[in-house]
Amino acid sequence: MREPVTAYIALGANLGDAPAAVKAALQALDALPQTRVLARSSLYRTAPVDAQGPDFINAVAAVATRLTAQALLQSLQQLELSAGRERPSRNAPRTLDLDLLLFGAAHIDSPALTVPHPRMAQRAFVLVPLAEIAPGLVSAQQLAAVAGQRITRDG
Ligand code: ADP
Ligand code: MG
Repeated sequence: MREPVTAYIALGANLGDAPAAVKAALQALDALPQTRVLARSSLYRTAPVDAQGPDFINAVAAVATRLTAQALLQSLQQLELSAGRERPSRNAPRTLDLDLLLFGAAHIDSPALTVPHPRMAQRAFVLVPLAEIAPGLVSAQQLAAVAGQRITRDG
């Protein structure tokens, strides 16, 4: 059997009861096959970046999983669908967005999956919660580069 890999997942929601959607998704991650949540950040409230609509609620989770990266992404997309997500357009307001940030030390560049997530270094809503649970993975320079983006801890 394959060894477990530590993966980091970004969660975001900005429609309906966004904090409830993120909390439910954290529980759902822990319930995925061959996967358990190792750590979860606080919830953060952030201004939409390149997106419309109300503020987002964001968080980052670390999981240990024996799934492949592709299988994990499929599971994340299933969770998005069961949360009622529709995809009217890219960056549209969403009930739940789950992005795979890191999958161990893997570098993946396929049509469906790019890891490390290509835009994570530009996003305070990823870097700040990631730094909370994995400070060694985010440098002070990276945090300084996104310091202009509004983000507050939301419980
Ligand atoms: P975004 O999260 O950038 O706002 P979407 O959630 O609509 O956009 O995702 C669009 C596509 O990005 C998905 O169909 C998925 O296949 C692809 N994708 C590529 N790399 C990743 C990744 N690391 N995590 C999540 N989705 C990814
Ligand atoms: Mg996404």
